[in-house]
Amino acid sequence: MDFSLSDTQQQYVDTVKKFVKNEIAPAVMALDKKHAFPRQIFSKAWELGVMNLCIPESLKGFEVDVVSSALIIKELSYGDTGISTSAMCNDLANVVIGQHGTEEQMERFLRPFVDRPAFASFCLTEPGAGSDNSAMTTFIKKREEGGYILNGAKCFITNASYADQFTVFCKVGKPTANFMACVIVPCPPAAQIAPDAEIHETREIVFPGGGKIIIGKPEEKLGQALSNTAAVTFEDVIVGEDQVIGDRRLGFKYVVDVLDYARPMVAAIGVGLAKRAFDVTLEYTKERKQFGQRICDLPVARDMLVAMWKKVELAELALMKAAVKVQEQAPDRGIYASLAKNAAAEAALFCATEGLHLHGGYGFITEYEISKLARDAHIIDIYEGVREVQNMIIGREIL
Ligand SMILES: Cc1cc2nc3c(=O)[nH]c(=O)nc-3n(C[C@H](O)[C@H](O)[C@H](O)COP(=O)(O)OP(=O)(O)OC[C@H]3O[C@@H](n4cnc5c(N)ncnc54)[C@H](O)[C@@H]3O)c2cc1C
Repeated sequence: MDFSLSDTQQQYVDTVKKFVKNEIAPAVMALDKKHAFPRQIFSKAWELGVMNLCIPESLKGFEVDVVSSALIIKELSYGDTGISTSAMCNDLANVVIGQHGTEEQMERFLRPFVDRPAFASFCLTEPGAGSDNSAMTTFIKKREEGGYILNGAKCFITNASYADQFTVFCKVGKPTANFMACVIVPCPPAAQIAPDAEIHETREIVFPGGGKIIIGKPEEKLGQALSNTAAVTFEDVIVGEDQVIGDRRLGFKYVVDVLDYARPMVAAIGVGLAKRAFDVTLEYTKERKQFGQRICDLPVARDMLVAMWKKVELAELALMKAAVKVQEQAPDRGIYASLAKNAAAEAALFCATEGLHLHGGYGFITEYEISKLARDAHIIDIYEGVREVQNMIIGREIL
């Protein structure tokens, strides 16, 4: 197995590293304190071509393979995992269009992301359907005039307040139906948000033909303050036949396909955070002296630094294996995606928690980046399937 990066992959890594160093690192602590949604940073990431990684070559002019995507997201996450979560969410929402949409649907629903820095939301979770998404009740119902009416409520939706388009998973016919569909709901042009606007309140998008989307007030979160998260309610939204992706009975399969692609990307978020936590802790413990020695030279503290380094390296190995499996569409890619997600979440939580501890009292002071990393790390073990769900997937396959 060859672990060396191709010239193109190395270029991506170098580009994102430079972007993080020059644009994210100097601003991140102040932006995090403000709970800003850093539109300018996203616009620059879009200009650099490090957003919308899943868009096919036929539309974008170049293809970013899965391994390169994981490398890009890992490096972006080294800067901030709120930023990388929102950037990656465009792929989470849009990958299904490239995987199962028609040429016309790709042109209609993906082209806007090539043309301008736009945001997409992936709407799966509901108040009563989290880990068990089969319990969802959002549904489409046929209209006599043709097409469907969409109704239902989603929660914890990344990018929702700023979204130009929603990818919605919903039941077909009635809330308790067995079949699930995937529909794309673009916002009307009049609902587009000005590039510098910041949203702090509830927002309503009214469709000229009837129906509306109500986006709740942005959630106040423990961490990842630089991503946006809100509830989304669809009220009598008209959905044309041409907005339904693939077969309207195969939504469950499409969710699995999306998550097989996206879980290595969440793993990349975890590895990026874990590495950052290790690096800031190493730097701190090289500076700080106690008992006449640098903290990193005290044997028990050094053991902990070694344990942190090992977690980062092992999680990165799991990430790369999962990315290669997804790239090759290997039949067992799902369990490697789950393994990588769990390993990376564990590394992120471990490195952030132990890193904070090695900072002593200073780690508890919000001025120190490790305190932010410790807050940000928790969600990596939760979103896109909690640890137990990943174990369930692995358990089902290996037995
Ligand atoms: C910041 C943030 C961003 C998010 N972004 C999105 C998004 O863009 N789109 C989207 O659709 N969703 C999103 N989510 C939702 C996220 O994916 C869910 O929160 C997650 O899947 C867990 O669902 P839940 O919160 O309902 O927890 P529950 O399903 O209620 O689980 C709670 C706990 O129960 C235990 N548990 C659950 N299932 C099992 C099991 N099978 N076996 C054993 N124990 C179990 C676990 O300990 C788990 O942590 C986001 C969430 C957050 C907080």
